[in-house]
Amino acid sequence: MNTLSPGNTRIILLIVTIISFFVIGFQQGADYRTLHFNSIVVDTHNDVVQRILNGEDISFRTKHGHSDLPRFIEGGLDIEMFSIWVPPEKTSRSYFEQANEQIDSIMSFVQRNPKQVAFAATSDQARKEAMNGKFVAMLGVEGGYHIGNEIRNLEHFYNRGVRYMTLTWNNSTDWATSASDETDTSLHLKHIGLTELGKAIVKKMNELGMMIDVSHVGEQTFWDVMSVTTKPVIASHSSSWTIRHHRRNLKDDQLKAIANNGGVVFINFLPSFIDSTYPAKRAALDKKFKPQIDSLREAYKGDEIVEDMLITEMLTDEFKKIRPSLSVLMEHFDYVAKLIGADHVGIGSDFDGITVTPLEMDDVTYLPNITRELLKRGYSESDVKKILGENFLRVLREVEKK
Ligand SMILES: [Zn+2]
Repeated sequence: MNTLSPGNTRIILLIVTIISFFVIGFQQGADYRTLHFNSIVVDTHNDVVQRILNGEDISFRTKHGHSDLPRFIEGGLDIEMFSIWVPPEKTSRSYFEQANEQIDSIMSFVQRNPKQVAFAATSDQARKEAMNGKFVAMLGVEGGYHIGNEIRNLEHFYNRGVRYMTLTWNNSTDWATSASDETDTSLHLKHIGLTELGKAIVKKMNELGMMIDVSHVGEQTFWDVMSVTTKPVIASHSSSWTIRHHRRNLKDDQLKAIANNGGVVFINFLPSFIDSTYPAKRAALDKKFKPQIDSLREAYKGDEIVEDMLITEMLTDEFKKIRPSLSVLMEHFDYVAKLIGADHVGIGSDFDGITVTPLEMDDVTYLPNITRELLKRGYSESDVKKILGENFLRVLREVEKK
């Protein structure tokens, strides 16, 4: 007969505790990944088209940046809205023409990967393809200047499958002022907000069924849009102004107005938009490593996106010390969801339009961490699914209604 000494009992208890810790830990880990991969996950803003233009083929795993097809799949991302954006510096070719070439490049990516990728222009198509296991490519145009003041160009983009247009980028158009310009006191703007043409463009977007994107627009433009639009609007990549006072973020009254209008705010991941302590830390880093940064910029002259990427790679360990934690990013999701409801929040990463990301969010493969963190913060599975993608599909469906 075996008797257990008190010492043995303690050891057994310890072993049982360790085993249950691992079992429960594993189950929780498995649960968030199961939920993530069983949900339709959508991101409304990705700038990888700029890397495609630099000659990278995102059909394969790439060494730089944040996204490519294998990584989209690994991150459980089902639907990506690719941002069409031409640098606003004047060239001999029109923004419209260059934007169309960018659309061609996405279409070519879709056509080269018929087994894995599908293009969608409606919420039903997007859901269907995602349910069939496809990675779904959709399109948004970032900046009203791409239509060159022509409503027929807007219709052309719509006919090519573009489903949102950000009314301005950092630059204003002749018909809408940007957040950058409205907050720049040195400028003497001819108009502030939407002009009559701007209002006509908003109405046309309502009529066509194209989502109006208010990220980047100034506050006056925002309120003018809200008084004209008959359909829900989105902010494809903006965060909370209350947490981080930045002109690219949305104030509480703007967030509430978007909720009242049935719209959705998709949270941007850029450190300087989400973390008020980041800019000073970044400036100190830039100062400390100025010689290295300058010589790298000198060597790669001409391509700022590549330069920025290489700088963050060269100084990876230094950036690790200043990158915001994942919880800083999650604060924005949480704040907006608590203020206006989980029906009005989503993911608008800005991956590949940004070079530095929050910790534990290095690239698209880290997206399941958002699901994990939302569950940890007490969100129900149904709310998590809304934030991951259902809110996007709902708002697009509303906007599609004739
Ligand atoms: Zn942007």
